[in-house]
Amino acid sequence: MTETAKGSVPRRIVYPGTFDPITNGHLDVVERALHLFDEVVLAVAADTTKKPLFELDQRRSLAEQALKEFNGRVKVTVFRGLLVDFVRSQESRAILRGLRAVSDFEFEFQMALMNRKLSDNIETIFLMPRDTYTYLSSTIIKEIARLGGDVSSFVPPAVEEALKKAYHGGKP
Ligand code: ADP
Repeated sequence: MTETAKGSVPRRIVYPGTFDPITNGHLDVVERALHLFDEVVLAVAADTTKKPLFELDQRRSLAEQALKEFNGRVKVTVFRGLLVDFVRSQESRAILRGLRAVSDFEFEFQMALMNRKLSDNIETIFLMPRDTYTYLSSTIIKEIARLGGDVSSFVPPAVEEALKKAYHGGKP
């Protein structure tokens, strides 16, 4: 493992997701994780059963723009294949997921236990966003934007622009 200047191994957590697109809820979870870990690797999934609105490259680029403010402590990357293999390749032992409501729990619990079966020394850590973001999802944001609603308080500015372009050719 790479060592920091102080000689200790940086604590790094991998935050996987579709990020179609990244929202303030995702950013809130990243910010909380940075209180516990030195670095967050935000991993945009190339293989997804969802049908994303944005291409992989745009999802990555929007996340990168939104995470610039964290001054290099957050790396954005794309991943393919098994998540546990990717986590190991990043010299990490932790997976970050956000938990909004009980409705998230069942799926997340299943995934976490399956990942533990695949690799017993990688732990999944769940963080809850600020309460005002608990009802936020990329799906809801896309629906509001599609119908011409204002999403500026839920997503970073570049995402708002990208949504306008995707649904209304850039016009409000
Ligand atoms: P996935 O397809 O992997 O669920 P998402 O981009 O939808 O990808 O979500 C990635 C992670 O971020 C998931 O753990 C999800 O629960 C979490 N998440 C999504 N929106 C929010 C939010 N508003 N607050 C906290 N966590 C969130």
